[in-house]
Amino acid sequence: MIGAGTNWFGMSDLYDFPDARAASRDAQAQIDDLRDRLDRMTLLSYAMWTLAREKLGVTDEQLADRVQELDLSDGKLDGKIGVPVTECLKCRRKMSQRHRRCIYCGTPR
Ligand SMILES: [Zn+2]
Repeated sequence: MIGAGTNWFGMSDLYDFPDARAASRDAQAQIDDLRDRLDRMTLLSYAMWTLAREKLGVTDEQLADRVQELDLSDGKLDGKIGVPVTECLKCRRKMSQRHRRCIYCGTPR
């Protein structure tokens, strides 16, 4: 019987494609690593927040206001903190922070 994950010969689709199996394992390992990092970041954020609340008297409302302020710093309320965009000194086109030189005219940042 042909089912999900099997081919016409009744063998697993992944059985015939070792590269696909390796890619799948790599993707799963990356997901597991990202989950671990997210768990650590969540724990660290919560520890910092509870310390700020206890030691500095910061309120939940103040935290929510700061989150919204930072979220809106790139002009979009999207639940993310944006990367600031600058202009090329020569051609005035927008430059990503990721690039050291303008991708249009090559002028260094
Ligand atoms: Zn430029």
